Amino acid sequence: MFFLLTSPISQLPGIGPSLALKFQKLGVFTIADLLGYYPRRWEDLSLLSPIISAQAGQKITVKGKLTTISHFRSPYKRMFITNGIIQDKSGPIKAIWFNQVYLKTALKKDQEYYFTGNVGNQQGHLTLMNPGFEVTDHLPLHSGRIVPIYPETTGVSSKVIRRAMKTLFNTIRHTPEILPAELTKKYRLVPLTSALENIHFPASETELVNAKHRLGFDELFLIQLSLAFIKANWGQQISQPIPTSFDFLPKFKKHLSFTLTNTQVKAIQEILADLASHKATNRLLLGDVGSGKTIVAAAAIVAVVQAGYQVALMAPTEVLAVQHYQNLQPLLKKFGVGIALLTGSTKSVSGEEIQTGQIDLVIGTHALIQKSVVFKNLNLVIIDEQHRFGVGQRYQLKNKSRETTPHFISLSATPIPRTVFLTLFSDLDVSILTEIPTGRLPIITRLATANNLDKVQALINKEIGQNHKVFVITPLINEDISAERASIASEIKNLAELFPQAKISALHGRLTAETKLQIMQDFKEGDINILLATSVIEVGIDVSAATVMWIKNAERFGLAQLHQLRGRVGRSNLQSYCLAETRAEEPETLERLKAFIYIRDGNELAKMDLALRGPGAFFDTQQSGFLKLKLANLLDEKLIRTTHAAAQSLIKQDPELKNYPELKKAIQLNLLPHSE
Ligand code: ADP
Ligand code: MG
Repeated sequence: MFFLLTSPISQLPGIGPSLALKFQKLGVFTIADLLGYYPRRWEDLSLLSPIISAQAGQKITVKGKLTTISHFRSPYKRMFITNGIIQDKSGPIKAIWFNQVYLKTALKKDQEYYFTGNVGNQQGHLTLMNPGFEVTDHLPLHSGRIVPIYPETTGVSSKVIRRAMKTLFNTIRHTPEILPAELTKKYRLVPLTSALENIHFPASETELVNAKHRLGFDELFLIQLSLAFIKANWGQQISQPIPTSFDFLPKFKKHLSFTLTNTQVKAIQEILADLASHKATNRLLLGDVGSGKTIVAAAAIVAVVQAGYQVALMAPTEVLAVQHYQNLQPLLKKFGVGIALLTGSTKSVSGEEIQTGQIDLVIGTHALIQKSVVFKNLNLVIIDEQHRFGVGQRYQLKNKSRETTPHFISLSATPIPRTVFLTLFSDLDVSILTEIPTGRLPIITRLATANNLDKVQALINKEIGQNHKVFVITPLINEDISAERASIASEIKNLAELFPQAKISALHGRLTAETKLQIMQDFKEGDINILLATSVIEVGIDVSAATVMWIKNAERFGLAQLHQLRGRVGRSNLQSYCLAETRAEEPETLERLKAFIYIRDGNELAKMDLALRGPGAFFDTQQSGFLKLKLANLLDEKLIRTTHAAAQSLIKQDPELKNYPELKKAIQLNLLPHSE
C-alpha cells in the first residue's frame, strides 16, 4: 500500500481514532510527521546468539522454538507466572515472564520466535527474564536486527511505532528524491528513500551513519533554502512605511520606570529605522534571558499603533501569551493601545473587534495563525522566543495582512553559538542585546543534594518569609508527556510536607488559559508562595519578586535549558538563588552540573551542551522543535556553511524553484503549521 505524505495517520492500518490521538501528543499528525519521527537511539539486536553461549548478565537475542510452556499463579504474591523452555540447535534455555496474562494466548508451544531479554540466574539455571518475542516467519521488527527506540508516550510504545512505520515501507520506497542530482553527487549523499528506510530500520551501522548524514544535510539545507526562497520571493516586498518623529524615543522613555540599556536603545533605533522604510522589516532581536527584549518590542508596538496600524504578538505558550498580556497592558495603556488576548482556549475579543480595527494589539499563541483571524490593517508581526517556531509558521502569520507585507520582528534567546546562528540566518537583519540591565546581582547557583535539603528548606523559608517567590521545576519523567499529571501530584505532596506554611500551586499543560492566568496573577501579586511547574515555565516567564529557582532532577535538563530556567529569577535587584537538585552520582553528570554552577554565559553553556549532548539537547518532547533539527549538529560549522552555500546558489540560479518541484514541495510541507 502507498500513502500520501499529507494524509492523516489514521489512514494507516491498525491506527484507529484513539491511537491517532495518542500519536498527536508526540506531534505526529500526518504520514510525513510519522516518517520524520526519528528514533531517539538504536539498539543493535542483530547478532543472534546461540543459546549455548548465553551468560548471566547479558542481553541477548536468540532464535528458538518454544518447546514447553506453562502458566500458574503464585499463591503468596498472587503473581501470574509463565514458564517456558526455548530450544535452538545449540541447546535449551529457560524463560520466565511475570504478570503477563496475555501470554496465555499470545505464546504458542512449538512455534519458533526471536526472543530478546536479559539472562538471569533462577535457582541455578540460566534463564531469559521477561523476554520480548516475535515470530520468525517475517522480517523481524523488534529483534534480530538494529532496532529503533523512539521517544514514547502512554499507549504509543516503540513497538507500536515500529509497527506503524512498517506499514510505510512501500511509501518510503516511492518517496520522490527532493535533492537535485548534482547535490547528492557532489556531497556524496545517499538517496532519500534509502536514508528514510535506514534511519528507522538500519540495515547496518554504516547505513545508519549514511542515513543520519543525508537527513541531517537535508535539515540544514531546507531551513536555509526556505529562508533564501522567502527572501527572494517575498523579502523585497513593499510595506507601509512607519515614520516616527525625532522625539518618539524620549517620550517613550518617560513612561518607563527604569533606564534603557545602551543596547536596548540601539535596538529600538535600528527597528525604528527599519519600520520607516518601504521595505518590509525582517529583524531578529537576540538577547540572553533577562536582557529585556520585551520593552524593545513594546517600543515598536507603540510606534506602529500610533501610526494607525495593528500589531500581532505571538508567543509559543499560553502562559507566555498571558504574561505578555498582563505585563504590557499598564505601559501600553498609557499610549492608548487597545490590547486583546487570543489563545486556543481564551478569547478576550470577538473576531469583529479585530477585523474592524478596534483592537490595536492582539497577543496570542498558534491560534493567531488560524485562518479565521482577520485583521483590518496588520502591519507588524512580532514573534517571541522565535526559536520555538518552525520557520514557516512565522511567514504564515506574516501573510495575514492582505495588501502589503507587514513588518516582522522576532525575539529570541536562542541558546546556540552566535556565529552559527548568524550564518544560518544570514537572510535576516539582527540586533543583539549584549547587556543585562544594571542593578542586578549575580544569581547564586548551588548544587542541591539529599545531604543539604535542610539548607534548601531554610533558604526557601527565609525567602517566603520576606514575601519573595519560589519556582520549583520538575521534569517530565521518561519523556512521557502524559506522566505530567502524576509527577506534579506527587511533587505537590512533597512540597506541602516540606513547607507546611506555604501556599503552593501548580502550573501544567492541561489547565485552561483562564486558570493559568489566575495562577500566574496570584503568584506574581497574590498569596501563592511556591509555584510548581514542569518545564512549560522555561520560556520567558517574568516575575520580579521570584528569588528562588529550585530545579528537581536537574540532570535531566540540558545546560541551555537549565540556563533558561535560571533566567526566571534574578530579574530585579533582589539577591536570587538557583538550586540544581540531583540524586545522580555519575561523574559526567556532576561535571555537567558544575559547569552550570560556574558558567553564567548562555552562549558558553549552549556550546558545551551541543558538544555534550548533540542537537537533540534543545528539545523537549512537547515543542514543535527548535529549528526542527533532529539530526544535524549545530556545531558542525562546516556542514552549515556547505548547506548555506548550496541553498544560496540554488536560489540564485532558480529563485522560484521552478525546476525543482519536489524541493519546493518539501519546503512548503515544512511550512505547514500544526493546529494547537
Ligand atoms: P527577556 O529578554 O528575557 O524577554 P524581559 O523583557 O522579560 O527579558 O525583561 C526582564 C525584566 O527586566 C522585566 O521585568 C523588565 O521589565 C526588566 N527590564 C527590562 N529592561 C530593563 C532595564 N533597562 N532596566 C531594568 N529593568 C529592565
Ligand atoms: Mg522574553
